[in-house]
Amino acid sequence: MTLTSLFAREEMTATEHEVEDALREGVSIHNGVMPIEVIVDDDGYAKALKMARCEMVDGRPNAVEGTEYEIECDLIVSAIGQGGDLSQGLESLDNGRGLIDSDAFYQVPDRKGHFVAGDIIRPHLLTTAIGQASIASESIDHYLKQEAQQKRPKVDVHHFELLQKLRESNLSPKEFDAEDLGDMRGTSEGDWAVHNYEDRASAEIISSDRLFLGHFPYTPRNLRTSSGPTADEVLGHFEERGIGLSAEQAVNEAERCMSCGMCFECDNCVIYCPQDAIFRVKKDQATTGRYVDTDYNKCIGCHICSDVCPTGYIDMAMGDH
Ligand SMILES: Cc1cc2nc3c(=O)[nH]c(=O)nc-3n(C[C@H](O)[C@H](O)[C@H](O)COP(=O)(O)OP(=O)(O)OC[C@H]3O[C@@H](n4cnc5c(N)ncnc54)[C@H](O)[C@@H]3O)c2cc1C
Ligand code: SF4
Ligand code: SF4
Repeated sequence: MTLTSLFAREEMTATEHEVEDALREGVSIHNGVMPIEVIVDDDGYAKALKMARCEMVDGRPNAVEGTEYEIECDLIVSAIGQGGDLSQGLESLDNGRGLIDSDAFYQVPDRKGHFVAGDIIRPHLLTTAIGQASIASESIDHYLKQEAQQKRPKVDVHHFELLQKLRESNLSPKEFDAEDLGDMRGTSEGDWAVHNYEDRASAEIISSDRLFLGHFPYTPRNLRTSSGPTADEVLGHFEERGIGLSAEQAVNEAERCMSCGMCFECDNCVIYCPQDAIFRVKKDQATTGRYVDTDYNKCIGCHICSDVCPTGYIDMAMGDH
C-alpha cells in the first residue's frame, strides 16, 4: 500500500504515532508529491496514478515539471479532507468550505435560533463535538427563554457548583421568606443561606500561585501505551492498539492534582484559625466542597485560613459571592 501526501513527513496532517503505525505496517509513504492524473486501462479502470513532486505556493500545491512518475495500482482512495453535504436545503448555512460557522455560543452568526456543533464547524474530536453540543444546549435554553446569552468563561468546562452539589445531596437550603424572618442581620444561623459559598464558575482551574505546591509534589502522568502489528501481521489483526490503564493506574491518574481548587479536607484551616472560627460541618450536613464552615461571630478576617489552605479553596472576599 502506498500513501501519498502533499507535505513533507514532519508537516503531514497526521499524528506522529499514526505515521509510525503506517510505516510499521508496511505502508510506503511518498511525501511532497501530488497526483496529476489517473491512468485508466482499456476498460476504464484505474491502473496507475501519475504523480509529480510539488511545491506549495500560497497554500496550494504546484507540480514541478519533469518530476512525474507513476504508481501502479488497482484501487485509489481519495482521502483529502472532510466537509458536510449541505446540498439538501442547508446551502445557505455553507461558509463556502462545506462547513458551518459558529459564534462563541455555537449559534450560526447572523442566523438567530440556528445552533451548530461538532465536525461541521471544523473536523476535530468526539470530545470536542460533545463539549460544543453541551454549550449549544445551554445557548438554546437561553434562546428559548428569550434571555441574553451569557459570556462564556475562558476555560469553558463544566465546573463544580456547590449549590448544585447540595441539592444532589438533599442538603438544599431551606425556603427563604423575608416576611417571616423579620430582622435578617447576620446569616450565620440561618439554614436558608449557604455559608462560605463560592461559585467556582470564575475559577475552574486554580492558578499555581494559589496552590501551596509543598503539598503537591510533581507526579508524572500515567500514560497509555500502544502496540501494533508489523507488515506480516496486519491482515486479520483485530487486537486493540491502545492499551488502557490498569485499575491501579487509573486510580493513580485520577489522584493527580488537576488544579481544581477544591477542598480536599486537610483540616489546615480548622487547625490554624487563631479564633477557632472554622469548624467541621456535621457528617450528615457535609458533602463535596462543604467540609468546613465558619462562625462569622468569631472570625476577625485575618486571612490565615486562606493562606494555609493548600488548594486555594478559601477565597477571602467582601461578600461579592
Ligand atoms: C477515521 C476517523 C477516525 C477518528 N478517530 C477519532 C478518535 O480516535 N477520537 C476522537 O475523539 N475522534 C475521532 N474522530 C473524529 C470523530 O469521529 C468526530 O469528531 C465526531 O464523530 C464528530 O461528531 P459529530 O456529531 O459532529 O458528527 P458525525 O459523527 O459525523 O455525525 C453527523 C451525523 O449527521 C448525519 N447527517 C449528515 N448530513 C445529514 C443531513 N443532511 N440530514 C440528517 N443527518 C445528516 C450523518 O449521517 C451523521 O450520522 C475520527 C474521525 C475519523 C473520520
Ligand atoms: S480569617 Fe482568620 S479568623 Fe477568620 S476563619 Fe480564617 S483564620 Fe479564622
Ligand atoms: S478549605 Fe482548604 S485548608 Fe480547609 S480543609 Fe479544605 S483544603 Fe484544607
